Amino acid sequence: MKYQNLNEAVETLKKLEQTMAAYNHVLGVLYLDATTVAPKGTAEGRGQTMGIMSGIVYDLIANPDNGELLTYLESHKEELDAQTKREVEVFRKQYDQYHKIPQGEYIAYNVLINDAQSVWEKAKNTNDFELFAPYLEKIVDYNRKFAGYYNEKLAPYDALLNEYEEGLTMKTLDAFFAQLRETIVPLVSKIQNTKPINAEFLNKNYPIEKQREFSDYLMDVLGMDRNYAGIGETEHPYTTNFNNKDVRITTHYYENALDSSMYSVIHEAGHAIYELDCDDCYNYTFLAGGVSMGIHESQSRFYENLIGRSYEFISYIYPKMQELFMEQLADVSAEDFYKAVNKVQPSLIRTEADELTYCLHIMVRYELEKKLIDGSLKVKDIPRQWNRLYKEYLGIDVPDDTRGCLQDSHWSGGSIGYFPSYALGSAYGPQMLDAMKKEIRDVMVQVKNGNLMPMRNWLKEHFHKYACFFKPRQLFNRTCGKFDAKYYTDYLKDKFTKLYDL
Ligand code: ZN
Repeated sequence: MKYQNLNEAVETLKKLEQTMAAYNHVLGVLYLDATTVAPKGTAEGRGQTMGIMSGIVYDLIANPDNGELLTYLESHKEELDAQTKREVEVFRKQYDQYHKIPQGEYIAYNVLINDAQSVWEKAKNTNDFELFAPYLEKIVDYNRKFAGYYNEKLAPYDALLNEYEEGLTMKTLDAFFAQLRETIVPLVSKIQNTKPINAEFLNKNYPIEKQREFSDYLMDVLGMDRNYAGIGETEHPYTTNFNNKDVRITTHYYENALDSSMYSVIHEAGHAIYELDCDDCYNYTFLAGGVSMGIHESQSRFYENLIGRSYEFISYIYPKMQELFMEQLADVSAEDFYKAVNKVQPSLIRTEADELTYCLHIMVRYELEKKLIDGSLKVKDIPRQWNRLYKEYLGIDVPDDTRGCLQDSHWSGGSIGYFPSYALGSAYGPQMLDAMKKEIRDVMVQVKNGNLMPMRNWLKEHFHKYACFFKPRQLFNRTCGKFDAKYYTDYLKDKFTKLYDL
């Protein structure tokens, strides 16, 4: 036996965790640099460094010695403290992932993904699905195969879902989406028979310099301490975190769309606050940071929609907005603004969808992914089926694949089974808010007064501080009880019935 005693093994584990955290920190900074301020011509050297660093991270985790370390720690499971026990569990999952896929396949797949990204970009820009199709076929084949490696007992698509949201199944999603469809589709068609909300003023000219000032103000209102949270500008907004005292968000400014950056900032702030409020004890361990895609997205969408698009929040920030955009918003009331940013409009692009129709976009992708993986849908038939489902769910015609099945980068990046976590995240929020209101009855009144701390503290106490200590389902259930989509559908019904006076 390699380890003299348990202490030595635990020490080896903790050292490895810290080393991994350090490499990931550096890789993260390089990525942040690449997407924000690095000059265009600097990619080569950075690519070289990132390639070498990623190789080191791979070797660190895939190192066969870790198998022995894990076996030893697992055989002493009962003697470990709760946190270390969970660290071992998470480590086991990561280690197995690298080892279940034969190395040759793993490398070939990464090469494929790398090529697929640029082919997809080209296909999207030239509206040429056939160019991308052979790559997607291979990606689907690989994913089906990997699903068997991940968990041979599960149906392949369930095994893939499980990679993004532990415990999530098609059975749960089928019921969830059916329930959503039943609520959303009739609501949308009712809304289409009403007088459209005027949102034109959102597309006036809003100088970027002023929008930057507005972002700073929003960060303040949301309680983002600028000593620990930075904001940058990128093509696509995102959040990255290095530890719970160093979180960065990014946004993208459009002169003719005030709400675009505004809601990116609020959305990313939701992700960032989750990371900032993780407990210190999880820093530099496998348990650092948010626990799953679904829970993470629940936090960003909580801030974006339940708070950011609420009348209470808007009425609080509106005087400042009118001060910043005096000319543009002079004749616009807080009520008008609230209506405009909640306007329902079935559209082609998922990332620009309104709160009500958003999940319909996810459902289309879910239906197709499910069939791709079980083999009942061929890649070449995707465009036709995509367009059919957009017509059926959203009532719109898709003019080309660029704005249709080629719009998202997920499939070219090999992420199949990822989309549903967006919808799930949206649906977690209202059930969380319901639980929150049982303890803080006037939480929305507090928001109206600009006091977001009671809400944030509640989220911290029940969710954020635990980082990855609990599994996602466990984390949710211990506070909210069993997940029930009815909270979400009731919330949507209530909000949009009132908004449109249905
Ligand atoms: Zn997000």
